[in-house]
Amino acid sequence: MNVYVRSGDSLWYYSQLFKVPFRLIIDSNRNIDPQTLSIGARIQIPGYVTTSYQIKSGDSLWSIASSRNLPLDTLFLVNPTLNPAFLRIGQSINIPIRVTWRIVNGKQNYDYSTLMNDMRQLQTVYPFLRISSIGNSVEGREIPEVLIGDGEKRVHYNASFHANEWITTPIILTFLNDYALSLTNQTPIRGLNTLPLYSQASLSIVPMVNPDGVDLVLNGLPEESPWRDRVIEWNNGSSDFSGWKANIRGVDLNDQFPAEWELERARNPQVPGPRDYGGESPLSEPEAIAMADLTRNSDFARVLAFHTQGEVIYWGFENLEPPESEAMVTEFSRVSGYEPVQTIDSYAGYKDWFIQDWRRPGFTVELGTGINPLPLSQFDEIYEEALGIFLAGLYV
Ligand SMILES: [Zn+2]
Repeated sequence: MNVYVRSGDSLWYYSQLFKVPFRLIIDSNRNIDPQTLSIGARIQIPGYVTTSYQIKSGDSLWSIASSRNLPLDTLFLVNPTLNPAFLRIGQSINIPIRVTWRIVNGKQNYDYSTLMNDMRQLQTVYPFLRISSIGNSVEGREIPEVLIGDGEKRVHYNASFHANEWITTPIILTFLNDYALSLTNQTPIRGLNTLPLYSQASLSIVPMVNPDGVDLVLNGLPEESPWRDRVIEWNNGSSDFSGWKANIRGVDLNDQFPAEWELERARNPQVPGPRDYGGESPLSEPEAIAMADLTRNSDFARVLAFHTQGEVIYWGFENLEPPESEAMVTEFSRVSGYEPVQTIDSYAGYKDWFIQDWRRPGFTVELGTGINPLPLSQFDEIYEEALGIFLAGLYV
C-alpha cells in the first residue's frame, strides 16, 4: 500500500500509526533516505492493501476508522484529497486493510507461472522482499531468488532441484508468506517472535531450481517444443513424466556438482534420462551453474536443500562437515521428527559441494514419505514438519 509524505510525517510516525515494525518500513523503502523525506514522496507500507468503500448515510470518517480499529489519520493518508466536511453518500474512499491472510495457495499444481505470479504478489504486499534472477533455465525461464531479512547470518534454502519433487516449492513459498505475515502483524510462529530472526539472519530462497523440469512434470510438453521428441525418447517413449527428476536436457541437476562427480558419474546412467544422469561434465547445465554462481557470490553460512521424500536429513559429506553440523541437525530432527543421516553412498550433490568447498553446514532435507511426486493431500502434514526446520535454520 502506498502513502504520500505530508509535512511533518516520518517513517517512524507511519510505523506507529500502522503498527508495523519500523525496520520493515525502512526496508520497504530502500530508495528513500528516512532523514530527508520530501513532501509528496511515495512510501510503501508493508502488510497493508487498500479497498474502496462507498460512504453510507450516517457514516463519519471517525466511525469508519474506529469500527475497523484504525487511527483516523490512516484515512487521511490514503485519501489525500479528502475533505471531511464534504462527505457525500455514495462517495468512494480508500480504506487501509491489514493483510492477515495468505496470498500463496500451496495446495495446487504449482508450476512456474503460479510461482512467478505469487512472487510478484508477495513483493507488492511485502516490499521488504528483494527478488532477483540468478540465471536462466535451458528453456529460458528466469530462476528467481528472494531475500528476506537484514541479519549478518546468511542462510540459504532451495527447492525443486528435482522436477517431480515440485511440492517443495509451494511448501517453501508458504513459509515465506507465513514469515512475512508474522513479521508485519507481529504474531509469533510456534511461540517464536520472528522480528529477531529477521534482524539476525538474511534468508536467501531459490524456490524452483529446475523450472523446466517442474513444468514438464505438471504440464507435459507443448506440441511445438523443440525438446519434445528427445524428451519422450529419454522417457522410454512415455509422455507420463511423473518419474522425471532431471532438467529438460535429461541431466540430474543434483548430480552436477564438482564433489566426487566422477564417482557419481561412473555408477549412474551414461546418457540423458529422467534421473541420475550427471551430464558430460560438472556444472554443464545453466540451472546448476546459476546455483554455483549464487553460492560463490553469497558467502552463505549454511544451506538447506529441500527434496522429497523419506523424512530424513542428510548432513555430512566425506567427513568434511564442520562440528556444528551435528548440533544443527539434532535441532532439525527435534523439531521435525525426521531422522538425521550423516552420510550415504552419494556424491556430486549441491550440499556435498557446499560442505566440501566451504567446510560449512549443508543439509539435504527429504520431506514427507511415499512415492514422488507426493500428493497434495500430504501438504499440511509436510508443511508442519518443514516449518520447524525452516525456523530452526534461522535461529540455530
Ligand atoms: Zn531429490
